[in-house]
Amino acid sequence: MAQTTELSRSIVEFLNSSEVVKTRRCPSCGAPMEYVPVTFHFAGEAWDVGLPVCIWCEPESLELVDHRRVA
Ligand SMILES: [Zn+2]
Repeated sequence: MAQTTELSRSIVEFLNSSEVVKTRRCPSCGAPMEYVPVTFHFAGEAWDVGLPVCIWCEPESLELVDHRRVA
């Protein structure tokens, strides 16, 4: 088991808290955000978190979201 430092504890807390954020709206246009799945590996553990993107304000992010749906 990896040794837990103050820094890694902070990161683990951040990852755990970001995991529960599921519903968020774009601050610019108010549309529901899409989530691009990202897996973080840290301290021997893995987190599947969604990176929030707005497909209306950031159309290029739609490509990342589509990859998720195909896969
Ligand atoms: Zn937007």
